Amino acid sequence: MRALICGISGQDGSYLAQLLLNKGYQVFGTSRDPQGSTFANLAKLGIQKKIEVLSMDLTDFRSVLIGITKTNPDEIYNLAGQTSVGLSFEQPVEAMESISIGTLNLLEAIRFQNPKIRYYNAGSSECFGDTGGAVATEETPFQPRSPYGVAKATSHFLVQNYRMAYQLFVSTGILFNHESPLRPTRFVTQKIISAAARIHTGSNEKLQLGNLSISRDWGWAPDYVEAMWRILQQQTPDDFIIATGRTTTLLHFVERAFAHFGLHWRDHTEIREHLKRPSDIDVNCGDPSKAARVLGWTPTKHVDEVIHEMCEAARRKLQ
Ligand code: NDP
Repeated sequence: MRALICGISGQDGSYLAQLLLNKGYQVFGTSRDPQGSTFANLAKLGIQKKIEVLSMDLTDFRSVLIGITKTNPDEIYNLAGQTSVGLSFEQPVEAMESISIGTLNLLEAIRFQNPKIRYYNAGSSECFGDTGGAVATEETPFQPRSPYGVAKATSHFLVQNYRMAYQLFVSTGILFNHESPLRPTRFVTQKIISAAARIHTGSNEKLQLGNLSISRDWGWAPDYVEAMWRILQQQTPDDFIIATGRTTTLLHFVERAFAHFGLHWRDHTEIREHLKRPSDIDVNCGDPSKAARVLGWTPTKHVDEVIHEMCEAARRKLQ
């Protein structure tokens, strides 16, 4: 089997590449600029030399078509695009283009080049917006609250449309937040853990944070790439929520991360108004029961174990 992972340099791309290599796949990966990327995540997992990387910009149809022609994949996993909700408020056009137009270009290329290709679309819990504390299911309506969420909702509907209109095997995983030591520091979870580790080793910095009362359904990234693969192994294409079904406040995350290093979070943090988003989601939580029933998928780690793993990785990095 041959798999093409768009956005292989990221957290999920790297774990997915590792999973597929272990399953005997030939893995190809795309980056907008492979010459300029160090592929540090692939290197950390010790798999960089096993992957053939190629240049692809999803907003450029020609590069998408050439990438698919060159690699002739059985499966495509589209994990590329702007991934930060916060950044999407600063660069909304880039969010829309990289996510929505990127998805459309891939769908069109599959339809044109090889309709037998199975396609995984990286959907997001951000599509649901604020459910008022209710646990989201696959039937919960989308009410996105950020340009990122709007772009992800657009790509979700595009995938559903191409599935219906052209009978393509295209599916979306509606993934809730998932973390790991490979999470970049622009995300608040890694930002917190990296700062706590640095403070533990002598830094006297103050960590600046926004709204700590938000709650998120946080899982373990390696579990979530397993779900992506399972979604493409089904008899029929479909959309699935991938989540833990439990939600935790950001305050708990901060407390726990600092406590891991023997610190009290209050002594080392300050709240900054400008870090609060123009519109945010208070609570998110997903119901993974369809994934459990159909895919046989369940999460393996509680958020506290995720925090523990990330803190230990940060400690090793500083040593
Ligand atoms: P990362 O940010 O770690 O990686 C995304 C990759 O996409 C990058 O390596 C980059 O590759 C590429 N990329 C970044 N910006 C752009 C852009 N503007 N245009 C095109 N490509 C870009 O993301 P994750 O691995 O965490 O997430 C994978 C997918 O899953 C994403 O689509 C994300 O939105 C989605 N998702 C993630 C969740 C999470 O909690 N991690 C939750 C729900 C959905 P390069 O620079 O090499 O081109």
